[in-house]
Amino acid sequence: MKTAVLNKGKEDKYLNQYPLIEEEDIYRQDRLEEGDLFQLLTSKNTFIGVGYVGRQHKGLGWILSYQKDDEINQAFFEQLFEQALETRQYYYQIEGTNAFRLFNGEGDGLGGLTIDSYDGHLLIQWYSIGIYQFRDSILEAIKQVFPFRSIFEKTRFKHQSIKGGWVEGEKPEFPIVIEENFTFYNVHLDDGPMTGIFLDQKEARKKLRDYYSEDRKVLNLFSYTGAFSVISATGGAKTTSVDLANRSRPMTEENFGLNGIDPKSQNIFVMDTFDFYKYAERHGLTFDTIVIDPPSFARNKKKTFSVTKNYPQLIEGALTLLNAKGSLILSTNHSAYSLKAFKNMVKKTLDHEGIAYQIDEVMGLPKDFKTHPHFKPSKYLKLIFVTLQ
Ligand code: SAH
Repeated sequence: MKTAVLNKGKEDKYLNQYPLIEEEDIYRQDRLEEGDLFQLLTSKNTFIGVGYVGRQHKGLGWILSYQKDDEINQAFFEQLFEQALETRQYYYQIEGTNAFRLFNGEGDGLGGLTIDSYDGHLLIQWYSIGIYQFRDSILEAIKQVFPFRSIFEKTRFKHQSIKGGWVEGEKPEFPIVIEENFTFYNVHLDDGPMTGIFLDQKEARKKLRDYYSEDRKVLNLFSYTGAFSVISATGGAKTTSVDLANRSRPMTEENFGLNGIDPKSQNIFVMDTFDFYKYAERHGLTFDTIVIDPPSFARNKKKTFSVTKNYPQLIEGALTLLNAKGSLILSTNHSAYSLKAFKNMVKKTLDHEGIAYQIDEVMGLPKDFKTHPHFKPSKYLKLIFVTLQ
């Protein structure tokens, strides 16, 4: 097997089970290529673990095992999947939810691969050419271990000829309808990188419905298919959804319809968020709850938006539309934005405005998005619920 030798002093990090092998930590390597298995060694040539090469935006690859003689084959993957399935039993048993993550990359012991179940229709996401080299044995292992009606795949790396699509089982017509917290949503597994719903926000959606919706006017910014709006409306809110993309309107209307809510009873704006702030101010629109869940980066006309730079402006704009005792639900999925930095930014922005508020709750990923205890970026989702006093 090929080897990669660490720089002196870097061994502790990996002996402490940091799962991502970083290029700059490597002193010498055999010519490692995508999909290669290799032994990670200390500068004194002591074995640490077996990894595979799979370059994503960061890192050379991921650790697979700390056992020298583990064979990386179908049986190895089956064992990982069985453990993952075991910890998802809760989701098979509860009522009102049939979509959840079955396997969450490094959190479940194999970076670069995720598997979601949308009411039994599995979605595999391959994050590098390297992990894709193991496709045959991983697919066989998936078929052995996970219950499924069909299997789809998406590639999250660029390649001329490798594209995702339908793999196995009964090929459904899209959209399929999934249920989450007794609410219904349309899902497309064959349409671009997104599916119609972000499963990692399931607990935030529930909290919004249960505590921040009844008899409230709720504004949902960066609303995409309106998932936050729809669940909020089922909790008794009158909602306003704002998204720049034209497709957001029909997709949001359909999601309302699935839940027996007349889309005409709700407001949908296809508009830039900052333009909406001006529009709302001009028209005297105000809200009791404002949800802000932006993409990490976005470009609109000549403006660019980045969560790490522009979040304060989003909050300031929202405050001008927020009623007394209103609430903000602030979210970011940017893995490089730490919870600490995000929290500090929120506090600083609110303090600067000189208003009294309380932080009701700080939330992260739901438990199906299992994270790795020694790898902070795996806890990428951060939500802060704030109420004005
Ligand atoms: N909050 C959504 C997910 C947001 S995905 C949910 O929970 O489902 C990001 C969305 O932001 C996309 O739909 C994109 O069209 C929208 N978007 C990007 N830039 C925007 C802008 N400047 N104003 C409004 N929407 C924007």
